[in-house]
Amino acid sequence: VNGRDIHSHARPDEARVVHLSLDASLDVEARRLRGRATLRIEASPGAEAVTLDTRDLRIVAISDGSGAALPFTLGDPDPVFGRALRVTLPDGEPVVAVDYETEPGSPGLHWLAAEQTAGGRIPFVFSQGHAILTRSWIPTQDSVAVRQSYDARITVPEGMTAVMSAEHLTPDGVPADGERCFGFRLREPIPPYLIALAAGDIGFRPVGARTGIFAERALLDRAAWEFAEMERMLEEAERIAGPYRWGRADLLVLPPAFPFGGMENPRLIYVSPTLLAGDRSLTTVVAHELAHAWAGNLFTPATWSDFWLNEGFTVYLELRIQEALQGAERAAMLEVYGHREWEAAVQRLGADAPDTRLRLDLAGRDPGDAVTVVPYVKGAALLRVIEAEVGRERFTSYLRGWFERAAFRSVTTAEWVADLREHLLAGDAGLEARIGLRRWLDEPGVPENRVVPRSVVLEAVEHEAERFGSGTAAARLATDGWRAQEWRHFLTAIRTPLPGNRLRELGDAFRFAASANAEVLFAWLRLAVRSHHDPAIPDIERFLTSCGRAKFVRPLFAALVESAWGRPHAERIFGRARPLYHAALAAALEGIVGG
Ligand SMILES: [Zn+2]
Repeated sequence: VNGRDIHSHARPDEARVVHLSLDASLDVEARRLRGRATLRIEASPGAEAVTLDTRDLRIVAISDGSGAALPFTLGDPDPVFGRALRVTLPDGEPVVAVDYETEPGSPGLHWLAAEQTAGGRIPFVFSQGHAILTRSWIPTQDSVAVRQSYDARITVPEGMTAVMSAEHLTPDGVPADGERCFGFRLREPIPPYLIALAAGDIGFRPVGARTGIFAERALLDRAAWEFAEMERMLEEAERIAGPYRWGRADLLVLPPAFPFGGMENPRLIYVSPTLLAGDRSLTTVVAHELAHAWAGNLFTPATWSDFWLNEGFTVYLELRIQEALQGAERAAMLEVYGHREWEAAVQRLGADAPDTRLRLDLAGRDPGDAVTVVPYVKGAALLRVIEAEVGRERFTSYLRGWFERAAFRSVTTAEWVADLREHLLAGDAGLEARIGLRRWLDEPGVPENRVVPRSVVLEAVEHEAERFGSGTAAARLATDGWRAQEWRHFLTAIRTPLPGNRLRELGDAFRFAASANAEVLFAWLRLAVRSHHDPAIPDIERFLTSCGRAKFVRPLFAALVESAWGRPHAERIFGRARPLYHAALAAALEGIVGG
């Protein structure tokens, strides 16, 4: 909480990595990345060593820039934080070159066999560094507080194309002995969790001047259609937040094993294939990840306890972008939905629970596991309160100024508060008291001065859910003109358990099991699980063995194991689906299903 990153072994005050050069090749058969990470170091006077983070890496050799070996020691392994690697600094140029290889189980890389891809012909590999997994495929200072620029040369087997969260220098590849080599460079310094690498049968389709879609070739047409509005999103985001500072903004559609909806890697946003609904109804995730180009990427929280700065600002911007693109009512629906999730989380965790505060205490915890909706929704709700107090125009211009002042820096909540006081509150004690800044940041629960969002459309949807609950036939509900957002809300608002005949009636009337919208399908399947609905089991099994997105998979398994009815299904399906899931998700599910 005092600004030191407790989730990294690095001691940046002593010696700090400022640039990474990665020269690596992918051994798809052995599921290993092998290579050299050359780190440029900035050392303070008198510093004798630099401390790096590693996890599940085999260190082969360490040398200075001219090839002379450097002494090093590896600390004791910790299952979450990995091992500290302490390297004696060279006398000359402050460069440290680490030759290493990853283990097949290194959790930062996910290797997929050809048959686990959409195309089915060529394997796929992707990295996922958030929150502290980059250390398991690159030995560097894996800390949010240590920003580093990078360049890379990645060699892949024939038939594969490599992409990274960086400028692509050789998009067509340079053939060498049946292999292909790709060059990358990112001049802007970023925290290591934003370094991203993927390789597979990947093609590209531009959708705008600065925007385009990378995807498995088999998915490229669908993906380019689904995300065709990306350039307009980027333009709206700039109108609110100021200039986009990263050059291009491309998007990579990942295979189903990708555990998140999206990941905001600079220049290369990752998205889940579950967003391919066929009607552009799930593209708010793209708006969210684009918003991270300002919040989280341009400025980064200096510790994981300040994570809300990242997600709270992002959700606020996401809602503003959606308001500009789709109108106030659609944006209000998203906001209402978020507040409902926040309220549910507070109810689940307890109104006094420390994890319902914005500033979190994550000592000894994996920041990747500690994430709830609280930093997202409560963070955005705080910004709404400030906006309501000072007016939208003044708040927007403050935001642009903040993005400017904090650009390419890692900042704590305290630094943001100081900036807010200086540039917006300007000594107005009454204003700060009305906002209740302290209470929002450091007290648990839902502050009573939040701006409660309202959506007349969702209120009507809730009314229909109540009518259904009190006996009205499904066919007689007023559902004309409903889109995916309304259906999802309807399914979430229905009280469970439902008797089997009423579930069947709903399913027959609206055919939710055939929905191409993953959110609607998930809400339907969860309703079915909570109602112990046997006929839905094949649909649940199909969904869980073809989708690896944690947001859907975790709650479905959690709901299944709650009952003697569901537990055997959970165990059988997990056994089948496990190879599809990302390592971190599989480990979490082990705790749910295996425990
Ligand atoms: Zn986010």
